[in-house]
Amino acid sequence: MSAATLSPEVLAKYEPVIGLEVHVQLLTASKAFCSCANHYGSAPNTNTCPVCLALPGALPVLNAQAVEFATLASLAINCEVRERSIFARKNYFYPDLPKGYQISQFDKPLSEHGWIDVPTADGTIKRIGITRLHMEEDAGKSIHDGLVDSANHTSLDLNRCGTPLAEIVSDPDMRTPDEAWEYLTRLKEILLYCAVSDCNMEEGSLRCDANVSVRLKGAPEFGTKAEVKNLNSFRYVRAALEYEIERQIEVIESGGRVIQESRLWNSAEGRSYSMRSKEQAHDYRYFPEPDLPPLIVSPEFLAEARKKLPELPEARRARMIAEYEISSKDAFTLTATREFADRFEAAAKTARNPRRVANVLLSEIGGRLNAQGLEQEQSPVSMAGIVQAADLLDEGRISSKQLKQLFDVCFEKGEDFATVYEREKPQQISDASAIEALIDQVIATNPKQVEQYRAGKKTVAGFFVGQVMKATKGQANPALLNELVTKKLEG
Ligand SMILES: [Zn+2]
Repeated sequence: MSAATLSPEVLAKYEPVIGLEVHVQLLTASKAFCSCANHYGSAPNTNTCPVCLALPGALPVLNAQAVEFATLASLAINCEVRERSIFARKNYFYPDLPKGYQISQFDKPLSEHGWIDVPTADGTIKRIGITRLHMEEDAGKSIHDGLVDSANHTSLDLNRCGTPLAEIVSDPDMRTPDEAWEYLTRLKEILLYCAVSDCNMEEGSLRCDANVSVRLKGAPEFGTKAEVKNLNSFRYVRAALEYEIERQIEVIESGGRVIQESRLWNSAEGRSYSMRSKEQAHDYRYFPEPDLPPLIVSPEFLAEARKKLPELPEARRARMIAEYEISSKDAFTLTATREFADRFEAAAKTARNPRRVANVLLSEIGGRLNAQGLEQEQSPVSMAGIVQAADLLDEGRISSKQLKQLFDVCFEKGEDFATVYEREKPQQISDASAIEALIDQVIATNPKQVEQYRAGKKTVAGFFVGQVMKATKGQANPALLNELVTKKLEG
């Protein structure tokens, strides 16, 4: 069966329905229910204790920091936080789950009814609902390969047992793989801004399962969904969704029925395989965790969490677009990470003209980084250097042409702006009479432009400025030159 056999006309008859379940490891110092270190990369089975190894009689104690982080994440995705939520045991057998159950939350999760806004292909914003965020613990890891005896043994590393997770379940609101990709991108960005997780997908800090079904366009009911598991990059999510949508359409078109099942994505082969029929909630025999009291999130705790919430990326971009008069695309560049946005804004505040700092950073530095294929953090010019350059430009002490030349040297030699400026100190002609003489020459040789200016076309002033700049090889003091050109033309 190959999806390539489906014509665009057939594909267009159907509408995909996508919902995502995202597991995020919380960045706490210790685990969810014991004091073991929550640390990736330790030697196998070293971060363990009777609680996370599930030895008889060991009792869980809830980590307050995990609650705080899960609450922060809940607020950031606009969920209503429940005052009283209940931990429950989710029972299933797996070798890397020594307790035989996972402590999770079931019908009374920490928070519900949230949303995040994502940009869509046509430039509009789409609101994706979030069903719930609940707290749970991670399981250990089964290691099937890479060890000496992997050929005939599976090894267990239980370091991950009891790592605190937030599971964020979206409503089935997405209709294309691109929307799913956008949703994940925005969600990850929000979580990173809140600093509740490192969201490192390679280390499994952020994992995604996708629920997907298709239905004929306009059909009132959802089709039968399949769950695709093991999606450890956004690229795989997109590829797996594309594959699954076409697979289901093909099944239906050939007269078959989609079955409810879990499927495992194989990125190497670019296809998914049926894993097992999908569990229903009742298969897990959930019941309230008898060893933990209900989790009470008091109004005071919630108010404290709200205070700790940073300005979130979407709001920050909207504010920066207004404040620095930049485009939406530029706002995305400046807010790529919270750390970078913070550094930019702290620096911009110290400048004469914060907007000019944004401008210099985006056009001059950004352009050069792009051209050389460098990341922002590889820039030879520091934020302080950008501010210094913007201020010199703003004061008219260097021309924009000189600025470009100085930045060229910075990038050529890998030196910061202050160093290059000190050494090269561009010559500047600030002698009014010398500049006036040059303007007189340009006026004398361009009567047509003078006429245009005097007839009301004031933008022609730029022509005269440009000509004098050219004559001085960019060394005329730009502020003074502008002033004198206007004076001469008006006079
Ligand atoms: Zn432990």
